[in-house]
Amino acid sequence: MAGLYPRSTRSFGIRLSRLQAYKRTERRLAGKFKPKTTATISARMGRVRQAGTEPELRIRRALTHSGIRYRTKNRDLPGSPDIANRSRRWAIFVQGCFWHHHNGCVRATIPKANRPFWKAKFAANKRRDAEAARELRLLGYEVLTLWECETHNDRFVRKSVARIAKS
Ligand SMILES: [Zn+2]
Repeated sequence: MAGLYPRSTRSFGIRLSRLQAYKRTERRLAGKFKPKTTATISARMGRVRQAGTEPELRIRRALTHSGIRYRTKNRDLPGSPDIANRSRRWAIFVQGCFWHHHNGCVRATIPKANRPFWKAKFAANKRRDAEAARELRLLGYEVLTLWECETHNDRFVRKSVARIAKS
């Protein structure tokens, strides 16, 4: 332990009070900004609709290949669809199998820790997805939901996008 603390009692006292003040500030800050749990962070991440993900790019390539025009900036539409065409009135959601809990899919797992939290979270996501699709349909949009796992099937993607573009 030698060397860790200054030798004289006096300076030791000063150091200690400084340390205490520091600790006090630290505690105050910690109380103000509550440390985030992984679950909270994950929940926030889950709300972010990521643009240009691999599954989305696969769909966009299929659309481009078929000469179908689309837009990817759709924040003004209910649920901010990943891909949409306003004049033709169709929208595509590319849903991650985990976050949007693709029923029956191997990727739709529920983490073992905080199970009730995750169940509520996935249920809320699904509710929001359904609500967005309903609102879009009310606006006269044809809505297509493609799951991440389905985007690996080129033929399926091509057929799906061709069908919606013709609608
Ligand atoms: Zn899936």
